[in-house]
Amino acid sequence: MNKGRVIIISAPSGCGKSTIISALMNFDSLDLHFSVSATNRKPRVGEKHGVNYYFLETDRFKELIAKNEFVEWEEVYPGRFYGTLKREVERIVDCGHNLILDIDVKGGINVKNLLKDDALSIFIMPPSVDELRRRLEGRATDSADEIDRRVSKAETEIAYASQFDHIVINDNLDQAISQTRNLIADFIKLNQQ
Ligand code: 5GP
Repeated sequence: MNKGRVIIISAPSGCGKSTIISALMNFDSLDLHFSVSATNRKPRVGEKHGVNYYFLETDRFKELIAKNEFVEWEEVYPGRFYGTLKREVERIVDCGHNLILDIDVKGGINVKNLLKDDALSIFIMPPSVDELRRRLEGRATDSADEIDRRVSKAETEIAYASQFDHIVINDNLDQAISQTRNLIADFIKLNQQ
């Protein structure tokens, strides 16, 4: 059986990455399985262990780092660790399914450098930093300080966009989904629709 392929999706916070990933997973022909990352952050309302993340205590996360069980891990926010487990990747690609990774920009670049042609990396770009700020303000989930922090992080992350195989600008959500879908279909050699 052929192994599955790896698709990396990274984006600054507020660029619609999760929405795009959910939409992509509804295309059965892409056979995408979500890579469940490990994190030491607490679950948000509605999030489930083993579905959204493997929620671990910090000590356990660090133990897994020491045992070299991660493909990559990052301290995405101070004190908050996220990582892709080797066994999660193997579990999915060894069965021939394609794996979709929702990981931060640095992690995305690291996985791409590791897997090279076996992975496709896509950067979801906001139409502009001003628009990103408007979207984050519109979500009304973050404080003004948090929004400032996310916008300034986004500016740093956008500087890395050119290291991805493709950049998709999320100006219009439907177009961004279809563009991303076509890139993935092409990568896994499906006929484009
Ligand atoms: P959140 O806490 O909002 O779910 O995720 C915060 C950030 O961590 C997002 O940018 C998300 O893509 C990133 N992230 C989630 N899982 C991983 C992972 O396994 N590795 C890395 N490097 N980043 C991750």
